[in-house]
Amino acid sequence: MRRAFFGFSAALMLGLQGCGGASDSKVSSSSSGAIRGGLCGVPGLVGERRGDVSGRMRGCGIDNAVSVTRVAGVRLTQPAVMNCQTARALHNWVERGAIPAVGRTGGGIASLRVAAHYSCRTVNSRRGGKVSEHGKGRAIDISAINLRDGSAMTVLGGYNGGRYRGALRKMYRAACGPFSTTLGPGSDRYHQDHFHFDTAQRGNYCR
Ligand SMILES: [Zn+2]
Repeated sequence: MRRAFFGFSAALMLGLQGCGGASDSKVSSSSSGAIRGGLCGVPGLVGERRGDVSGRMRGCGIDNAVSVTRVAGVRLTQPAVMNCQTARALHNWVERGAIPAVGRTGGGIASLRVAAHYSCRTVNSRRGGKVSEHGKGRAIDISAINLRDGSAMTVLGGYNGGRYRGALRKMYRAACGPFSTTLGPGSDRYHQDHFHFDTAQRGNYCR
């Protein structure tokens, strides 16, 4: 069932995301653990251990993957599969970047809208391209910050104007450091509607 779920959610995300594309992700359910806090040694990370994840394409997959549901008290709109290094980076960013940037606006952050997480595919889904950091469990795409009053700071609608512009830019800048790569509106045509954060091992690339 897990395989079916991941295949389905990947297909769904791909339809919505410029960052998305053809996928054949597969998640092994061996050595999975119960939902709990203290994931990856961080008290504020809640989720489940997923064991090793393998993809059909060479270069895809995650060793000791985790499925994250809550970060520093903030819920994710869907469980996000990644490695522990990326989960810890996400925790740092939520705690020191996103929460302070939003402050008390709209009553504070209710949840983060996850547009994509693990997905076995190439960069920007170009045929024959190299495997995306999404295919290695090192990336997460966030398309909006849902607020407690029911409103939302969307990357597409808020980054270039409007009352949430300042907060969105502040939290985007704060992601460079915890994450080695940050892409968003203004980076390229694939990232107009979401932030892409990853922990690629190639040095900082913040656009
Ligand atoms: Zn992405």
